[in-house]
Amino acid sequence: MRKLLLRSSLALTLSATALTGCSSTTNPGVIGSDRQQLLLVSSEQVLQLSAQSYNQTLQEARKKGVLDTDPAMKARLERIANRLIPQVSAYRGDAARWNWDVHTIKSDQLHAYVMPGGKIMVYPGIVDRLNLTDAEIAAIMGHEMAHALREHARERMSSQYATQAGIGIAASVFGLSQGQAQLATIAGDLGISRPHSRTQESEADKIGLVLMAKAGYDPNASLTLWQKMQRASKGAPPQFLSTHPSSGNRLAALSALIPDVMPYYNQARQ
Ligand SMILES: [Zn+2]
Repeated sequence: MRKLLLRSSLALTLSATALTGCSSTTNPGVIGSDRQQLLLVSSEQVLQLSAQSYNQTLQEARKKGVLDTDPAMKARLERIANRLIPQVSAYRGDAARWNWDVHTIKSDQLHAYVMPGGKIMVYPGIVDRLNLTDAEIAAIMGHEMAHALREHARERMSSQYATQAGIGIAASVFGLSQGQAQLATIAGDLGISRPHSRTQESEADKIGLVLMAKAGYDPNASLTLWQKMQRASKGAPPQFLSTHPSSGNRLAALSALIPDVMPYYNQARQ
């Protein structure tokens, strides 16, 4: 019996490995990048689908006249992104060459996200209503960029694929059925509107902190950011928090990490 179990678990391991299986999207030895990931769907598949979803979003926003309506806001966000982007090479060399992109959609909602491949979207509502400083914006962007670097959307699609519930999605991903537009919607949905897991959240917190510190933004701003977010969640919770579930100890975990990233911040300021 034990032998049989052993053999079947070995077979499972082998087939998972054959499907690319467990690996990591980022360089080892950097804060927040140590976890092995289940990656059954390729980056190319995810990028292709999410690019369609992203372009669809941009087109619709442009049609409604809500895309990039405030040039000063867009310029501010781009300036912050341009300080953060060069820091990503600590995690993965290819990401520094991604076509990073910053857009805004006029909305009062407290929301921001990064699509796979580095497409940053910020709703000005989150900046204005929370009265965010540049460093607090860098904390949001760094966190979002971390989700893209670690390919958390691809990981979620992979775990869907690994379950019965994901068979429809798997069929779609491998082009077995359904129209392309529908596929893009699925990819977009998985990428931005499903909640990240707690594990992914704490990873994004850690990596985001490193990125902002290396870019010369005071990592303590991550604490004031999440405090503002918490205060805003009395009443109607911000959309951002529905896709980025907070664990009770987020602030404590961030505080504990700040001494580790302060050297990056001090170095960047010199
Ligand atoms: Zn998150």
